[in-house]
Amino acid sequence: MKFNRIEDLDLDGKVVLTRVDLNVPTDRGQVTDTTRIDKIVPTIRAIQDAGGKPVLLAHFGRPKGKNVPEMSLRQIVPALEEALGEKVTFAEEAVGGPAKRAVAAMHAGDVVLLENTRFYEGEEKNDPTFAASLAALADVYVNDAFSAAHRAHASTEGLSRLLPSAAGKLMETELDALNAALGEPVRPVVAVVGGAKVSTKLDLLANLIEKVDHLVIGGGMANTFLVAKGVAVGTSLAERDMAGTAKEILEKAARTSCAIHLPVDVVVAKEFREGAPSETVPVDACPEDAMILDAGPQTVEQINGVFATCKTLIWNGPLGAFEIKPFDAATNACAQEAARLTRDGLLTSVAGGGDTVAALNQAGVAGDFTFISTAGGAFLEWMEGKDLPGIAALADARQ
Ligand code: ADP
Ligand code: MG
Repeated sequence: MKFNRIEDLDLDGKVVLTRVDLNVPTDRGQVTDTTRIDKIVPTIRAIQDAGGKPVLLAHFGRPKGKNVPEMSLRQIVPALEEALGEKVTFAEEAVGGPAKRAVAAMHAGDVVLLENTRFYEGEEKNDPTFAASLAALADVYVNDAFSAAHRAHASTEGLSRLLPSAAGKLMETELDALNAALGEPVRPVVAVVGGAKVSTKLDLLANLIEKVDHLVIGGGMANTFLVAKGVAVGTSLAERDMAGTAKEILEKAARTSCAIHLPVDVVVAKEFREGAPSETVPVDACPEDAMILDAGPQTVEQINGVFATCKTLIWNGPLGAFEIKPFDAATNACAQEAARLTRDGLLTSVAGGGDTVAALNQAGVAGDFTFISTAGGAFLEWMEGKDLPGIAALADARQ
């Protein structure tokens, strides 16, 4: 997919409306995690270096079209100034007089932050009039919020239709990495899908079966597949009413060249708690009064064996109940092997998903993966093969 990058547009002396993700966690008005803020700094620098004047726009929380003072982006200003090492001018309104005055007063190098776009009803409705009043502030639009690209809102989609548009640095990195993993990947490709429930990942499984060579199914959702195959899983988390669907997925895979990998041995315990007494048993030997909480060492060996034969890995969902020890073992062991293969230049590894990112951080390998997406919902929709409106609009703007 083709899209403009910052270098493709002439930004010299131009006002650049820049959609960023500032939806950071806060506690009583203080930013508690600056990861998202730190990640947009290269984009702001690139715009400034090209002579452009960045005017940031973002949403914060879910004010549903009303001005909710606790959800004002003003509270983000100190953390943003700290990350940038320079002053940021805050405009009380995202459109109209206050926004126009703040932009008109800008000199080269200045940064303006507009108020929460979701204070306006037109934002989530992608109202053309609202988009036009945002567009009236600027010459160019840069979208750096991949994490919001699955929403067709005025600030994420509408603006691309009204102004010359490009992807920001963070968006560019994300799109290049995702394209390398599923767009035009180097084969063979292995996907790992784990997590709690099959029902939340049906579209994902269906899409991956058509695109990848190996599909490793782990975590609680593997239990549902085991039930579908007539394997007793004791008191495990499993969606018994989804067994029919799981069977269809297995049948679909059998008709394609996608090999499905399910656990061959499992770690079981009678209680779901830290340090609960556990044992490793063959997959068909889960006691009636016990639950499967992790994959066993033989399964780990098989998965790592698949990794070794592949050139590209895409991963969503932990292989076990990784939050409680020792049920993080399989996730850790496979993540470490993927990290080693990546470090050795043998594997391109891309991962995403809220719990997946936490699990990979916990395994200490996040820095070794080729790319880890923190985009949550947008990452999953992309992995499901859906068109993300924000990305489609950027691609159209390139034509
Ligand atoms: P992500 O947020 O990365 O998309 P999910 O939310 O789908 O991942 O799944 C993560 C959850 O799945 C974790 O809370 C984990 O404890 C749970 N899980 C994984 N394996 C099991 C299992 N065997 N039994 C119960 N819960 C499990
Ligand atoms: Mg989750």
